[in-house]
Amino acid sequence: MRFKHLDKYRVGGTNDRPNLAVPVPQTPGGRVYRYSPNEAAAPRHFVLGGRRDAETSDQPKARMRRAPGSPFTVCPYSGVIAPDGDFLHPEDRDAAIKTVGDAAVADAAEYLRDAFKGIARRSKSWTFKPSAHQAPRQRLFIREDLLRAMHCNLCGRDYGVYAVALFCPDCGAPNVALHFRRETELVSAQIEQAESLDPTNNELAYRLLGNAHEDVLTAFEATQKIVFAYLWSTHRPDEAAPNVRNDFQNVDKAKGRYATLGLDPFDQLDAEALAALELNIQKRHVIGHNLGMIDEKYSVLADDAQIGTTVELLADDIRIFAGICLSVVQSLDDAILASSQTGSTIAP
Ligand SMILES: [Zn+2]
Repeated sequence: MRFKHLDKYRVGGTNDRPNLAVPVPQTPGGRVYRYSPNEAAAPRHFVLGGRRDAETSDQPKARMRRAPGSPFTVCPYSGVIAPDGDFLHPEDRDAAIKTVGDAAVADAAEYLRDAFKGIARRSKSWTFKPSAHQAPRQRLFIREDLLRAMHCNLCGRDYGVYAVALFCPDCGAPNVALHFRRETELVSAQIEQAESLDPTNNELAYRLLGNAHEDVLTAFEATQKIVFAYLWSTHRPDEAAPNVRNDFQNVDKAKGRYATLGLDPFDQLDAEALAALELNIQKRHVIGHNLGMIDEKYSVLADDAQIGTTVELLADDIRIFAGICLSVVQSLDDAILASSQTGSTIAP
């Protein structure tokens, strides 16, 4: 029996046990689905594209955990390293099975049709009319890119993840600071939008700046929660991670959480930066929960604040706030690097 259609996917093996390779469907951005083999990772789905030139970076290449292009993939969420094949996405597995199944059915149909072709040639009482050749059905497998597209600044690999991830899936470099830098770029775009408004739109401009300011703290808190959960799993793997509630919206409480891991990502901030960070976090509470009206707690932190008046929100203050948060996240990135170099999260 010939396997005309199946042979298109053949890459080796024997007649009895051929090795088949089915092309993986791609997203509109030219990326393929990947799925972390680490069951504890949440989420597990990400997309992987090709490699472009890496930006010139001041980050040392030593941050890479693997040589780019090696036959291993790094889970961007949990840091677990495993052979590329272990990252096969369930949807791609199903797609391959269906594609091969369709080809096998088409081959079998052709075999049967050819086998019965002359069967009724001498019969006067019945006839056999074979159906026309039918190619395997053409299935369309839809693949979508994820919202957060990344480009590793060390190895140049293109990939996409849900919101925040900790590692480049190719070279394995910790890159949560790269994610936060993207957040600060989005915040800058929001600020520029507010600044471009006509002066008669002051109320809208204040609202837009307020949203940009809020986004900095939201991203800062979310990033810290994810990093803390990862660092906890590497520092204290036998203990369940504590419920951190909203502790990462408060510098003192956040410091307390990091102290349980022997870390202090705030210690590189000078007194002025630390005070600006605390002031802006409190400013966020005033804008978000008190319609921007200064309360007693805020007035204690800010020298010129008068209770009952509207809190001042300047574009440059938001940029400085985002920059201070970024430097804390950079420290966390370094803590992840130190932690992952111990090898405690690397699978065989
Ligand atoms: Zn990389």
